Amino acid sequence: MNTSLPRIAIVMPCYNEEQALPISSAEILSLLDKMSQENLISSDSYILCCNDGSKDNTWAVIQSLHSKDNRVKGISLAHNRGHQYALLAGLMTAKDNCDAAISIDADLQDDPNAIVEMVQKFREGKEIVYGVRSSRKTDTWFKRTTAHAFYSFQNVMGLETVYDHADYRLMSRRALELLSQYGEENLFLRGIVPQIGLDTDIVKYERNVRVAGESKYPLSKMLSFSIDGITSFSARPMRWIFMIGLILLVIDVFVAVYVLFAFVENNAVSGWTSLMLSVWFLGSLILMGLGIVGEYIGKIFIEVKNRPRYAIKDYLLD
Ligand code: UDP
Ligand code: MG
Repeated sequence: MNTSLPRIAIVMPCYNEEQALPISSAEILSLLDKMSQENLISSDSYILCCNDGSKDNTWAVIQSLHSKDNRVKGISLAHNRGHQYALLAGLMTAKDNCDAAISIDADLQDDPNAIVEMVQKFREGKEIVYGVRSSRKTDTWFKRTTAHAFYSFQNVMGLETVYDHADYRLMSRRALELLSQYGEENLFLRGIVPQIGLDTDIVKYERNVRVAGESKYPLSKMLSFSIDGITSFSARPMRWIFMIGLILLVIDVFVAVYVLFAFVENNAVSGWTSLMLSVWFLGSLILMGLGIVGEYIGKIFIEVKNRPRYAIKDYLLD
């Protein structure tokens, strides 16, 4: 074995992926074989499946894949914590046992062949290589539109992310080491990783349909993920509410003058409509503002508890 070749860990978060895993692990293993034959990576490069508290037989599937080929390794979280945490658990487990880790979804929607180019860039000295979707032809219209709205909204809200990049990326050991120093509870890796800095690059790829099974990311989860992303990284929404409040206060001075003037002139009773409108309007603004403040306070509440972000129940790492 040539020890100067990099050892690559392919980190796959898996939630109820019993159908997709056998297909995707076989495909990745043959890709690893090909790359090690071409002397691009070391032959002990491996797949690390992170079972995110699946309710189906995912862990049993991982165990059987491991017994057939021990380059399929696994960890199992004690309960379902969501994609970001499963991914973090995997990356932190792989950190000390690889030269670079590549995160990819278990459904292989992100073309695994881009791994080759990622590794080439890594060998040229890049520390973080982002996989960027060149098209979303195979996503449904709804998924595509909501996802793009999600990116634009994040940018408007002051969150810096790489456009059309999900969590398909290569990170060098050094980048993983730096990532491990971010101790926050509200995890949004797409926002954190660009903050790490280091020498980065992108690789373009086509997005495919799922190899098997169905999406574990319904609209509700996507929305809460988006709100998490923004409130974990930006104080801009709070500032906006404050500015709106300030502008309303200025307008209010004029309204007060007008109302007092009307009172003095003895024609103050009319105007029920405008009163109702403004009560409703202001009421909704106040509620919105409270909601946003509450969102941040909630984050602080979770953050100060300083809980462990995930708990690993089982390991298959030999
Ligand atoms: N996933 C996870 N925990 C969850 C939900 C999803 O680990 O609670 C994994 C899932 O197994 C897959 C990846 O995250 O490997 C992306 O999920 P999915 O493909 O369902 O999302 P979509 O591509 O539809 O956005
Ligand atoms: Mg998917």
